[in-house]
Amino acid sequence: MKARCCKLVKPDNRCYYSRQCQHIGKVKREGKWYCHQHDPVNIKKRQAATAAMHKSKEDKDREIEQEANRLAKALGCGQPYYDKGWGSNDHGYREFLLISFEDVKRLIDQAKRK
Ligand SMILES: [Zn+2]
Repeated sequence: MKARCCKLVKPDNRCYYSRQCQHIGKVKREGKWYCHQHDPVNIKKRQAATAAMHKSKEDKDREIEQEANRLAKALGCGQPYYDKGWGSNDHGYREFLLISFEDVKRLIDQAKRK
């Protein structure tokens, strides 16, 4: 008979007791059996992957912010504005500059004068 995973799990989140994981042990780490899901090495790998994903999202957010600030500065007005929702790009945001009517009128006048 195969050893079961040694990890204690809660049958569901509302339960205050734990029972042993039902899965068959697939790997032995330091004398204890773990299923694929509870393998400490796998857990570390998953955590590292999640951390890397968060980091790349933060980098992307910072990039967007810098680009928005650069455009606002070049335009001489406007404010970076982010929103989630309809029309979001692949990292979940719409990014645009918020410009007042006054600023738009001024820009139009400027363009006309050229
Ligand atoms: Zn398990």
